Amino acid sequence: MKLIDAIESQLRQLDEQSLTRERRVVETPCKPRLMVGGRALLAFASNDYLGLAAHPRVVDALREGADLYGAGSGASHLISGHSVAHQRLEDRLAEFVGPHLESARALSFCTGYMANLAILTALGADGDAQIFSESLNHASLIDGARLARASVKVYPHADLAALGALLAASNATTKLVVTDSVFSMDGDIAPLPELLALCERHDAWLVIDDAHGFGVLGAHGRGALEHFDLRSPNIVYMGTLGKAAGVGGAFVAAHASVIELMIQRGRPYIYTTAAPPALAHALLASIDIIGGDEGASRRAHLQSLIAAFDEQLDLTRWQRVPSNTAIQAIVIGTNEEVLRIGAGLHGHGLWVPAIRPPTVPEGTARLRATLSAAHTHEEVAQLAAVLNDLERT
Ligand code: PMP
Repeated sequence: MKLIDAIESQLRQLDEQSLTRERRVVETPCKPRLMVGGRALLAFASNDYLGLAAHPRVVDALREGADLYGAGSGASHLISGHSVAHQRLEDRLAEFVGPHLESARALSFCTGYMANLAILTALGADGDAQIFSESLNHASLIDGARLARASVKVYPHADLAALGALLAASNATTKLVVTDSVFSMDGDIAPLPELLALCERHDAWLVIDDAHGFGVLGAHGRGALEHFDLRSPNIVYMGTLGKAAGVGGAFVAAHASVIELMIQRGRPYIYTTAAPPALAHALLASIDIIGGDEGASRRAHLQSLIAAFDEQLDLTRWQRVPSNTAIQAIVIGTNEEVLRIGAGLHGHGLWVPAIRPPTVPEGTARLRATLSAAHTHEEVAQLAAVLNDLERT
């Protein structure tokens, strides 16, 4: 019993600090209106920014993919799991973001988490390498940096001067600057052109995690690279495919030799079963939508929702993190208060996740509302109206 007592004491501690996380069981497809435990909720809680997760064309392609390739891949990519569907997806993604890189090739992954681990462990394998990591980076980049043999320096959020000083002082053989493009819990965008200029000056790689930008940013949805019109052989780009692309998985795009190194040395790539090929087949349909007219009109609608929320939210009552992206964070402060406000919203039939430490820094617990092209203007107005009327202690 002693073993289990220690576990239960940890769980009690989490509870005492209002840090216990709860999973809600969703009974319907990923759309703004969900059934959760038999109750209808209007959700601002997914990363399905373009509303592709339940798009009929993507769902049909998934079904077609299952007919063509079956349910599972059967093995890792380097054994026998690399299907023609994966290969087509990688070729399509290389073509999609390739103009922003040099000699680009793309590599598909089961998740963005694994892609980030693979990038940092493959490029940061050398003990003389150094990783310069932005302080608000996603957990998967933090874990990748921990797993790499490289030493790690964390630079303050968007602080170019501090990063410049660290790079200038470094005599590492390989330097990797690593950053989210759109910060996942704040919604602001990293100063990528300036970061790239620093990397080029100091001969460093710029690893960009565009989990929340791919599909959403840029006229054609090519993400942060298109948004800022970045072009450089120094860029290692990671895009996820379970958010705007609506399905699941991720990819890394970079110079063909970087990709080859990840195939040879990226343990999170090598030692895991390849994703079901049907997912890759469905993703080809997603990428077509993202890059076509429908994607452009979905992005335009999403931008108009973001602007409307910005206008409608009463900023004398709420501390909103400035953001022009679909991620709209409202900082509350304590864990207890954010849970209380989350429960208040739930009482009004709304679902906005309460985000607490360690996902965000201590004392900055927040509501994280995510907008999607699948929302209507009326739904966003409803969220703002309920928030503006909500009682606070
Ligand atoms: N990077 C960022 C910035 C993310 O927000 C996420 C997902 N929350 C990931 C990486 C991981 O991607 P995936 O969900 O595909 O593992």
